[in-house]
Amino acid sequence: MSRRRKIYEGKAKVLFEGPEPGTLVQYFKDDATAFNNKKHGVITGKGVLNNRISEYLMMRLAEVGIPTHFVRRLNMREQLIKELEIIPIEVVIRNIAAGSFTKRFGMAEGTALPRSIVEYYYKNDELEDPMVSEEHVTAFGWATPQELDDILSLSLRVNDFLTGLFLGVGVRLIDFKIEFGRLYQDDQVRVVLADEISPDSCRLWDLKTNDKLDKDRFRRDLGGVAEAYQEIARRLGILLDTGPTDPKGSTTLQ
Ligand code: UDP
Repeated sequence: MSRRRKIYEGKAKVLFEGPEPGTLVQYFKDDATAFNNKKHGVITGKGVLNNRISEYLMMRLAEVGIPTHFVRRLNMREQLIKELEIIPIEVVIRNIAAGSFTKRFGMAEGTALPRSIVEYYYKNDELEDPMVSEEHVTAFGWATPQELDDILSLSLRVNDFLTGLFLGVGVRLIDFKIEFGRLYQDDQVRVVLADEISPDSCRLWDLKTNDKLDKDRFRRDLGGVAEAYQEIARRLGILLDTGPTDPKGSTTLQ
């Protein structure tokens, strides 16, 4: 890692001061955590894959008019992003019942939901990210009602777009988590998509086999974690098959 000033270190990423004011560098680590930090691990190559996958998805989303913090990828593990004021809310969008939702409602994993369901969680490690309602978000001033409107409509657009994008490569988008921040620019403030979108933050199942191609492989000790992330990258066209001449038979990054 570089000698730039570290702004923040999270579980899977580090933020450094950027090359110019209003920018940051987002560094993707191989570390993985689950169950509110109770489970730790290292998935070799994960950071490199997530950097590429998140770059790809943020760029596709920007093309359809979703404002994001992403500027450009700098190298294998780093991307340049716009500095935002993070809104301390995790937005989870669910299409199919899985994870904590199945426990909460006693539902079988894989049950299609009657419509996409949006949930909010307050980002606070000590409190283990409690689920909150829109009332909590606005009453505690985490976001204004107008910002929450923007967050909801952007989240549903992201869900519609990503559902179609993944369907096109034979993957079902079960659920995912996104975060937003405030971008202060030219005396204006607007809500912008932040953080990352990757198999760390999405549940992605193979359309035909229902194989899990996401962090649930780590959470549940299913093995083949890096291979699953690689498969997502490959399907999105980010990985190049090196073909039979590669002695290890592996794939390399473009
Ligand atoms: N998620 C995340 N970070 C979190 C909690 C959830 O990225 O701190 C993602 C998770 O990968 C899944 C979705 O949000 O795609 C819904 O997760 P859930 O609430 O079911 O929690 P989990 O079962 O992962 O604890």
